[in-house]
Amino acid sequence: MAIDSVWVFVELRGDSLSTASLELVSQASRVAHTVTAFLGKQGDVSVFELLSKYGANKIIEINRAPEIALGGAAAFVMASKISKEKSPSAIFFEASYEGRDAAGRLSAKLDRPILTNITALELKDNELLASNAIFGGNMMVSTRFTGAGPQLFVIRAKSFVLEPNPVEYATEVVGLEEPRHLTNAQILNSYQEVRTGPKLEDATVVVAGGRGLGSKDQFSLVENLAQLLNGAVGASRAVVDAGWVPYAFQVGQTGKTVKPMLYIALGISGATQHMVGMKGARNILAINKDRSAPIFSIADLGVVGDVNKVVPALIEALKEKIAK
Ligand SMILES: Cc1cc2nc3c(=O)[nH]c(=O)nc-3n(C[C@H](O)[C@H](O)[C@H](O)COP(=O)(O)OP(=O)(O)OC[C@H]3O[C@@H](n4cnc5c(N)ncnc54)[C@H](O)[C@@H]3O)c2cc1C
Repeated sequence: MAIDSVWVFVELRGDSLSTASLELVSQASRVAHTVTAFLGKQGDVSVFELLSKYGANKIIEINRAPEIALGGAAAFVMASKISKEKSPSAIFFEASYEGRDAAGRLSAKLDRPILTNITALELKDNELLASNAIFGGNMMVSTRFTGAGPQLFVIRAKSFVLEPNPVEYATEVVGLEEPRHLTNAQILNSYQEVRTGPKLEDATVVVAGGRGLGSKDQFSLVENLAQLLNGAVGASRAVVDAGWVPYAFQVGQTGKTVKPMLYIALGISGATQHMVGMKGARNILAINKDRSAPIFSIADLGVVGDVNKVVPALIEALKEKIAK
């Protein structure tokens, strides 16, 4: 059993498709007969091939002047298609800036409700059942839409397994859909996130630091250990709020979701809102001086100790091993 059709708003990071968008296409192809991908700009053959490999049957390119914000253009194109044609059963958006922008605007245009912050979505009795956290991340609920019209879902990265599901026939690329007039939002400036080492969402190893490190200076321990392990640096919200590291490093309910092979939590207590973003890691190592810290309840290996003593010793031991 499958629902009729799903549209996916797919995003490019630079010239490459975002992994989170591919996850949405992959899941859409598992639950729907046809999957249409809306691409924010003109793609090339490699982009079409990848979308097709993960299950997109049709690709619609949204043509817009670079200064027009993508969210507004996407909402405009989708709403006008819905007014002319049969609407899709559901539309999936990434929980990214542009995904949320497009979804919010479309929700307003269609006067349809929207489900956000989704971490799982399955087909049950031919209906989509979504899971998301409520009450500050302390409770999970299952929700479904009632009534007619497209069901709008904003879905977090790493909610689905990414696996190829090639369509049986060649993906059809439809000519460019052009928003006929400017939307109110225009791009005035954009900034590139500065990063060294692997991307947090895709890294095999993530080393994350929390308030237990004691100060911004001590956060260098996290960075040094991550560098030695060729890992990415993560952080709890407490240290992001304290201004030790940028928001881009935050792991958790209001930050990023990561699923590395190894997650090392240094001086992090393990609040529900943090754990929801990293509990999917294959192996979790936690170092905390409080043996009753909640992070130990999900750790595969727990070290009760002072991070400012244990981590420098770990770094020295790793350096020695690498030098041999
Ligand atoms: C709506 C909402 C959304 C949120 N979203 C997020 C989110 O996305 N991500 C997130 O992380 N949080 C989030 N939070 C905040 C979350 O509830 C916690 O406040 C936060 O995760 C705590 O960060 P922490 O573990 O670094 O600090 P703390 O909770 O203060 O823990 C510090 C830990 O360090 C240990 N420690 C202290 N000194 C040492 C030492 N020398 N050596 C070893 N261990 C030591 C302590 O025992 C303690 O366990 C959210 C909260 C709300 C309400």
